[in-house]
Amino acid sequence: MFDKILIANRGEIALRVIRACREMGIQSVAVHSTADADAMHVRMADESVCIGPPSGTHSYLSIPAIISACEITGAQAIHPGYGFLSENANFVQIVEDHGLTFIGPTAEHIRVMGDKITAKDTMKDLGVPCVPGSDGGVPDLETAKKIGEDIGYPVIIKATAGGGGRGMKVAKTAADMEQAFMTARAEGKAAFGNDEVYIEKYLTTPRHIEIQVFGDGKGKAVHLGERDCSLQRRHQKVFEEAPGPCITPEERARIGKTCAEAVAKINYIGAGTIEFLYEKGEFYFIEMNTRLQVEHPVTESIFGVNLVREQIRVAEGLPMSFSQDDLEINGHSIEVRINAEKLPNFSPCPGRITQYHAPGGLGVRMDSALYDGYSIPPYYDSLIGKLIVHGRDRPEALARLSRALGELIVDGVDTTVPLFHALLEEKDIHTGEYNIHWLEHWLETNLGNA
Ligand code: ADP
Repeated sequence: MFDKILIANRGEIALRVIRACREMGIQSVAVHSTADADAMHVRMADESVCIGPPSGTHSYLSIPAIISACEITGAQAIHPGYGFLSENANFVQIVEDHGLTFIGPTAEHIRVMGDKITAKDTMKDLGVPCVPGSDGGVPDLETAKKIGEDIGYPVIIKATAGGGGRGMKVAKTAADMEQAFMTARAEGKAAFGNDEVYIEKYLTTPRHIEIQVFGDGKGKAVHLGERDCSLQRRHQKVFEEAPGPCITPEERARIGKTCAEAVAKINYIGAGTIEFLYEKGEFYFIEMNTRLQVEHPVTESIFGVNLVREQIRVAEGLPMSFSQDDLEINGHSIEVRINAEKLPNFSPCPGRITQYHAPGGLGVRMDSALYDGYSIPPYYDSLIGKLIVHGRDRPEALARLSRALGELIVDGVDTTVPLFHALLEEKDIHTGEYNIHWLEHWLETNLGNA
């Protein structure tokens, strides 16, 4: 059993992990940059270590600083949260070489899924349906044009090392191919140091449906249904829900079983998400995230499980505390991401919080590291909170979301809260009829946002 876990992250996700540790009787160690000395995760953890200056590269991404913090405090395991080092196979290897435990999958699983071409090949071999496209990497423009003709336009050119919505370009027609191909390559090279790209059919009206999987590392795995994350801006999710409003129990059982069997076959350990585009009743794999997702609480809400506790258990070598048969959906859950951003352009808006009041009541969960007087530093991601609601059904969850947003007070900085108030006035949000392009169109029409 672990006595002490170090959390290599900040913000709401660090708090999320500290809470799980405390409930399990495990001591927690926070790490922080000099800019985060007053952050809530530092206050809440049992111990804390300063690991460097404000820039993420020299603090939360500094492998030597994090390993040293473990050695100083005697932490036996590291939880990476999401972002930062959570999908860095090299980090996992170093953690293990130091006799510590990484709470997450193996370096090998991260490596395979981190390269989108290898991930797609692996999933195809495991029987998971994929988007039609090139067979692996596309070496040059000539080949790209030929593939465009073969699969038919529109197509999307994607950097194999891409992530966070970067390194993806759409070619609507053959005339766009040259520019899209060159830009995707250049973005892949600049952002990820790898210019290899591949091509997929561009689906025009899909929903983003992702399946939560969980493995024990010993050949046993389950699925925890889907999340619908179709409301996106620039390929970034802003509103997520479970179960998906358009997924039938039969579809869930079928795709869930395929995913659970696939990860069981590779002895996957811990939490993972298999992302799909869903169009006209078909699922098309796009990528796998080998970590806890920002939106994991909607799954926790409908299944009544604690995914972080489960991650810690399997990392300790314990069996999962639930089997597929124990997992039953109860009601509906929605999460909205509250960012310190100014509308209509979503420009980052760091600054001092003059007043903060979190909503409460039945079915409301606010995961946030804010407090009165806290200064949001300008160096990191603009996510400052996640409001998660749970209701007996979707209409109740939507009504609860509206009520809870009304109670939330975040003064001193601009936030994305007004966006959600406005979205809740839309008929399509209530009928659940939206695809991955809906929000961009809505922003253009209603906020003049490009
Ligand atoms: P990232 O790793 O950058 O998040 P993904 O491959 O997960 O990239 O894709 C992110 C988003 O891009 C998807 O949710 C979807 O909105 C869009 N997208 C990706 N592939 C396609 C495709 N073949 N057709 C249409 N949209 C796509």
